[in-house]
Amino acid sequence: MLADSHLYFHRAADVLKLEDRIREIIISPRRTVKVEIVTESEAGKLMHHYGYRVQHNAARGPMKGGLRFHPSMDEDHAGALANLMTWKTAVVDIPFGGAKGGINCDPSKLTKHELNDITRSFVGEIKDIIGPQLDIPAPDVNTNAEIMGWIMDEYSKYEGFSPAVVTGKPVHLFGSEGREEATGRGVMYVLRQHLESVGQELQGTTVALQGFGNVGSWAARLMAEQGAKIVAVADHGGAVAHEAGLDVLALAEWVASNGTVAGFAGGDAVDGADVLTWDVDVLVPAALENAITIENAPDIKAKVIVEGANGPTTPEADVILRERGITVIPDILANAGGVTVSYFEWAQNIQRFSWTRERVNEELAKKMREAYQAVTAVAAGRDIDLRTAAFVLAIERVGKAAMARFPIREDVFGAG
Ligand code: NAD
Repeated sequence: MLADSHLYFHRAADVLKLEDRIREIIISPRRTVKVEIVTESEAGKLMHHYGYRVQHNAARGPMKGGLRFHPSMDEDHAGALANLMTWKTAVVDIPFGGAKGGINCDPSKLTKHELNDITRSFVGEIKDIIGPQLDIPAPDVNTNAEIMGWIMDEYSKYEGFSPAVVTGKPVHLFGSEGREEATGRGVMYVLRQHLESVGQELQGTTVALQGFGNVGSWAARLMAEQGAKIVAVADHGGAVAHEAGLDVLALAEWVASNGTVAGFAGGDAVDGADVLTWDVDVLVPAALENAITIENAPDIKAKVIVEGANGPTTPEADVILRERGITVIPDILANAGGVTVSYFEWAQNIQRFSWTRERVNEELAKKMREAYQAVTAVAAGRDIDLRTAAFVLAIERVGKAAMARFPIREDVFGAG
């Protein structure tokens, strides 16, 4: 995972003609923290987990990034995802750097009390390295508004009332209107803008999704609202398809009570792997990394891939997609809606104001439009793909901020 995200960085660094020693400085994280979390299960047994927080870069502001609770979470994962956050916050031009973290636990095997204990112990261990002006966590895979509320509460016990220490909180606990659906909304906005740029529209566009959690389900709902037909959806438990278009609201209700799309009566049960190669206009990977590989990339039929997930395409698969003329709207642009509204939430918390949903959505639309235009302008100007363009734009923005902080005489970003 870490090596993969670095390959994308290096591709852009080649365009910018960055020297190796400068690349090393930019890639390496500022701080990597691993903490032990020992708690007691409800059955009275000791439980042992590790928590991670990797803070990659703070040149453009306090570091920002989600917390993932998943058995696969480790230093390598957190590092790769922290790196992506630095570039993502720069692409949407919000005043943050990048960080990421999580715990190697499986919430599906924990009671709510156990999860609460583990989360609070983690906060106790990392409280000195997070904070409203330092590093602001948010939700990611298997974490949600409720968990963010616990984090705010626990941190506030140490530091006093601190709503801005974490974003993605419940709306009734200093969260922002529109944050829950923000990543999915951003996915819809960039796709709509891309389609408009090639003379098409969402109305009637067919879409397949992998992942129907926060990002996937909201992207599906909002795309369907704009007239798109969601024909196939896969998640960890199974997959369903309906050529006339799935009833996305009914599917979301089914998943809310059953935990998976499997068993939904409004479609046919299909193989999850086939959803990625479904005969559709648009594919949205919105689950975990490395979903699109050299195994399935040659068979993908979608003309456009919008990366709702972080790192869903391996670099080898990315080359195949490019050669096949498939447009990939990269993660650091496509799924930046979440961190953008997290920024709005943080700003509201700092100012003790709250914005209306209309204002949040309006400002999000503006940020996503500007980011899309900036990335496509770099791509056109340098004749490069959208992913490389997004990295080029981000590296330049982070690099300029870093250089402006010190009296550096060497213009390392001037060569490209
Ligand atoms: P989530 O936990 O709400 O949902 C994850 C979804 O992926 C679920 O539907 C799950 O069933 C599915 N999934 C898991 N393993 C799978 C597998 N092996 N095959 C198929 N489906 C599988 O998580 P989320 O918050 O929606 O995050 C999804 C992705 O989007 C992650 O890559 C995350 O880093 C990224 N992301 C999330 C946000 C956010 O605001 N939540 C923001 C930016 C990026």
